[in-house]
Amino acid sequence: FVKSSVIEGTQHEEDSDQEDIDEKDMLKRELQDERKTLPIYKFRDELLKAVEEYQVIVIVGETGSGKTTQIPQYLHEAGYTAKGKVACTQPRRVAAMSVAARVSQEMGVKLGHEVGYSIRFEDCTSEKTLIKYMTDGMLLREFLGEPDLASYSVVMVDEAHERTLSTDILFGLVKDISRFRPDLKLLISSATLDAEKFSDYFDSAPIFKIPGRRYPVEVHYTKAPEADYIDAAIVTVLQIHVTQPPGDILVFLTGQEEIETIDEILKHRTRGLGTKIAELLICPIYANLPTELQAKIFEPTPEGARKVVLATNIAETSLTIDGIKYVVDPGFCKIKSYNPRTGMESLLINPISKASANQRAGRSGRTGPGKCFRLYTSYNYMHDLEDNTVPEIQRTNLANVVLTLKSLGIHDLVNFDFMDPPPSEALLKALEQLFALSALNSRGELTKTGRRMAEFPLDPMLSKMIVASEKYKCSDEVISIASMLSVGNSIFYRPKDKQVHADNARLNFHTGNVGDHIALLNVYNSWKETDYSTQWCYENYIQVRSMKRARDIRDQLEGLLERVEIEISSNASDLDAIKKAITSGKNGSYRTVKNPQTVTELKPDWLVEIAPHYYQLKDVDDTGTKKLPKGQGRAAL
Ligand code: ADP
Ligand code: MG
Repeated sequence: FVKSSVIEGTQHEEDSDQEDIDEKDMLKRELQDERKTLPIYKFRDELLKAVEEYQVIVIVGETGSGKTTQIPQYLHEAGYTAKGKVACTQPRRVAAMSVAARVSQEMGVKLGHEVGYSIRFEDCTSEKTLIKYMTDGMLLREFLGEPDLASYSVVMVDEAHERTLSTDILFGLVKDISRFRPDLKLLISSATLDAEKFSDYFDSAPIFKIPGRRYPVEVHYTKAPEADYIDAAIVTVLQIHVTQPPGDILVFLTGQEEIETIDEILKHRTRGLGTKIAELLICPIYANLPTELQAKIFEPTPEGARKVVLATNIAETSLTIDGIKYVVDPGFCKIKSYNPRTGMESLLINPISKASANQRAGRSGRTGPGKCFRLYTSYNYMHDLEDNTVPEIQRTNLANVVLTLKSLGIHDLVNFDFMDPPPSEALLKALEQLFALSALNSRGELTKTGRRMAEFPLDPMLSKMIVASEKYKCSDEVISIASMLSVGNSIFYRPKDKQVHADNARLNFHTGNVGDHIALLNVYNSWKETDYSTQWCYENYIQVRSMKRARDIRDQLEGLLERVEIEISSNASDLDAIKKAITSGKNGSYRTVKNPQTVTELKPDWLVEIAPHYYQLKDVDDTGTKKLPKGQGRAAL
C-alpha cells in the first residue's frame, strides 16, 4: 500500500473565473460575491485539478467552509454536468432541501430545474436537473433502478463523518462501481479531521484539506451536573441575552418536542423582560418543520435584536447558520439504538461524544471569537463522554439494508466490503426477520414477495403489510394505514390546555374497540369524506399538516402499487381482512415482542448456506438455534 498523499491547498489571489452574470440580477450577483468569500473558494482550481487527476478524493474541511454548496457548482462550471449529473448526498432531509434551495438561488435558477433535491416521498427534480442533492437513503434506492449510476458523472458522499447506515452502505456500493466505471468521480467529504480512515478504505485515496478559519472559542462548564437540562438551557439563553454583547445563540436539543417546549417557555419569559432588553427572535429547526419556516433560520437578524436558534443535531455539521456567537450545549442527542437480542429498535436520548461536543462548540467561532456553554461539568466531558459516536450500522436493525442489498443482487453479505462490519448478531436477526416475513426463502434468496417489498421505501414490516393486502383485497385501506404510520406520531394534536377534549376526539376514532392501525384508517377516511377539510381537522384535534403529508405519501404508495402490479382494491366492510394484512406485516416482530412461541426457527442448513464462511453445521445445534462465534469483526463474520 502506498501511503495516501496529502494535498495541501495553497492559496492564490486572482479570481480568474468570473462568470457571466446577468446584469439585472442583483441578488445573484451579490450571492456570487458572497461565494468568493468562502474559505473553499481559494482552492477551487486546485480542487478541480485534483478531481481531474484522481478518481476518488477525500475532502476535509471545517463546517461552513463551503463544501456542500460550492463543490457541486465548481464541478458544474468545470463541465462535469455535461457528462452526467452531479449527486451530493446528505444524511438529513432538511439539509438536502435547504442546501438545494441555497444553490439554486446562487445559480439563479428555479429550484427543481438545474438544481434539485430528492428525499423520501418528495422528488423535486426534473429532466433538466444537473446538480442533485439527495438523502443518502435516496441514492441507495437509485441503485435499484440504475445499478451502475450511469446517469451520474460525479457522486459526492457528503457529511461522511456522520456514518449513517445509508452512507456506510453507499461506501461499499460506490467503491464497487468505481472499479468498472473509471469515468465516475467520487468525492468523500467530511467535516472532521479523521479522514485517514476514509482514505484507507478507498484504497489510499488522496486527502484534500481545506483549511478553515476558526476563531477561539471560550468553553464554559457548569460547576455541578444539571438536574434538568431543559430548564438549564432556558436559564442560560436568558442569561446570555441579558448580559452578553450582541451575537446570535444556538441551542442544541434532541428533538421537536423539546424544541417546542423551550420555544413556548422562552416566549413566555421574554414577555416579562420589558422594553429595555433587546428583542429575542426564536427560530426552531428540526426535520418535520414546514419548509417555509426552515428558511427563517437563515434570515439576517434585524439590528438591535438577537436570534436564538433551537436546533437538533442538524446544526452540528449539516447546516451552517451565520452570525452565531454563543452555543448552548446540554450534551445530549437522540440516537437510534437496536437490541439484536429482542430485535427492537428505539430512539433514545444519549450523551453526545467528545467529537460532537467539539463540533458544537466550534459553531460559535465561525465569524469571530465565540463562547460555548456546556451544561455539564468538565469532569463529565473528560471522563464520561465517548471519543466518537458509534456508527449507525453498529446499532441498528439491518432488515431494510439486507433487503436492499439482496435486491441489488448482493447475496454474499458476509463478504460485503463494510468499512466497519455490523455485529454478526444484528445481521442474522435481519435475515431471520426477512425470512419470517417471507421476503427470503429458506436458502436466503429473495422471494417474489421480497422483491415486491423492496420497491417500497418503508420499513419491511410496512412493505410486507402492503404486499399482503393483495391477498386480502384491501390494498386501498392498507396503504392509507401505511401512509399514516409513515408520518410518525404527529397526527393527533394535544394542546396542553385542551387535553381532555383532544383525548375525547381521539377516542371517537377507536369506536368498536379497534386497535391503533384501524383508528388511523378511520381518521384518514373520515378526513377524505369531508373532502380533505381543514376545518374538520381543527374540530377533531388532528394536525392538518400531517394529514396532507399522509395524503402525499399515499399518492406515492399508490403509484408503487402499480409498479409491483397490485390492484387497488377496497374492502372497507371487512375489518378482519385488513387486520390479517396488518398481521402479516407483524410476523417479523411478533416472535420477539409479543408472542415468542411463534418464533420461526432458523433452519440450520439455511444458516450454513447463507454464511458458509461463518457457520458449519457443527456450529448449529439441533434445536435449530444458532450459536454465535466468540470473535467478531470481518474475518469472523
Ligand atoms: P460546508 O458544507 O463546508 O459546511 P456549506 O456549503 O454548507 O459549508 O455553507 C457555506 C455557506 O453557505 C455558509 O456560510 C452558510 O451559512 C451558507 N448557506 C448554506 N445554506 C444556506 C441557506 N439555505 N441559506 C442561506 N445560507 C446558506
Ligand atoms: Mg456541508
